[in-house]
Amino acid sequence: MPNSVLGILGGGQLGSLLATSAKKLNIKTFVFSDDKNAPAKNFCDEFILGDYKDEKKIKYFSDCVDLVTFEFENIPFETLNIINKIKPVLPKPDINRIVQNRLFEKDLINKLNINTTQYAAINKIDDLTMNKDLLPGILKTSMFGYDGKGQLKINSVEELANLNIDFKNEYILEKLVKLKKEISIILTRFGPGSFEVYEPIENIHEDQILKSSKIPSQISTELIDKSKKWAKIIGDELDFIGTMCVEYFIDKNDNLFVNEIAPRVHNSGHLTINSHNISQFENHIRAVCELEKIPTKKLHDAEMINILGDNIVNYRNKKYADNEFFFDYLKTEIKSKRKMGHLTTLKIQ
Ligand code: ADP
Ligand code: MG
Repeated sequence: MPNSVLGILGGGQLGSLLATSAKKLNIKTFVFSDDKNAPAKNFCDEFILGDYKDEKKIKYFSDCVDLVTFEFENIPFETLNIINKIKPVLPKPDINRIVQNRLFEKDLINKLNINTTQYAAINKIDDLTMNKDLLPGILKTSMFGYDGKGQLKINSVEELANLNIDFKNEYILEKLVKLKKEISIILTRFGPGSFEVYEPIENIHEDQILKSSKIPSQISTELIDKSKKWAKIIGDELDFIGTMCVEYFIDKNDNLFVNEIAPRVHNSGHLTINSHNISQFENHIRAVCELEKIPTKKLHDAEMINILGDNIVNYRNKKYADNEFFFDYLKTEIKSKRKMGHLTTLKIQ
């Protein structure tokens, strides 16, 4: 649908970068966000401020657009459902219900005979003592976690006595993987069997927040093939339309595990804006708006670093070489560890 008007739920940097790509394709964007300072305000055509649970506002937003997509998975499921009765939501809301919940997500992946870390549902303290073979492990809230939020490392059974866990939330306990590397696969699915898959991206995290991403990843051909294959199987199972990301762990023995699925464009794919002929954002817009699917090719190897907190100030005043691309998310408030921008450097011989 060329010339369509696209609604985007969420107004962070992912929404901004989606809106920028849409503009290039002559697609008008309406961003809906509950943050009056949402950075995507600077990049979209129209901005609607409202609570995600404000039914009247959500309906108004739906009336303004031809279809709706989202930049993050934690939009209330009910909101997506209300919109979906008025205008198509892509990817489909049911997908979110699964992927929003770490337990449902891992159950689905294992059902496909794809490996995840070992895990157990935790709803009371006894569940922890019964699963002590998963220690050392990480206790994660089943829902609404990101950038390591809602996570607690538990080293041993002895620590259990001193924990103060709020069991109003649901949790999962995951066995700690001795990581050799982390990679991600970003793919865009246009329909059954119709994909554009980027090569594996190698990621480094610090304090559970993505620090840097690079291509090519230094992994075996076998792991390259397996990670792409598994991501496609998951995309097909979810009947996904648009760009999604599968995050993987590789352990010291070169075993591959799915860590989690992001049903959206992903921070590790920011380098595709400069490294490829078509970025993860443009592919997402092409897929949801039913535009032409163009073979996606790498133009250059690349590395991206995230710029967190007040570090952004140093980057704003810098001069950049021709192979360096600085992105300022234009966030009004600088907070420690907040993603404020990124820098992509192309490896040009
Ligand atoms: P988020 O939703 O916050 O991104 P993740 O589950 O992806 O949460 O965890 C963030 C990071 O924490 C991972 O990328 C990894 O570096 C580390 N981590 C999380 N779970 C494990 C685990 N089971 N074993 C080893 N490292 C882990
Ligand atoms: Mg993650």
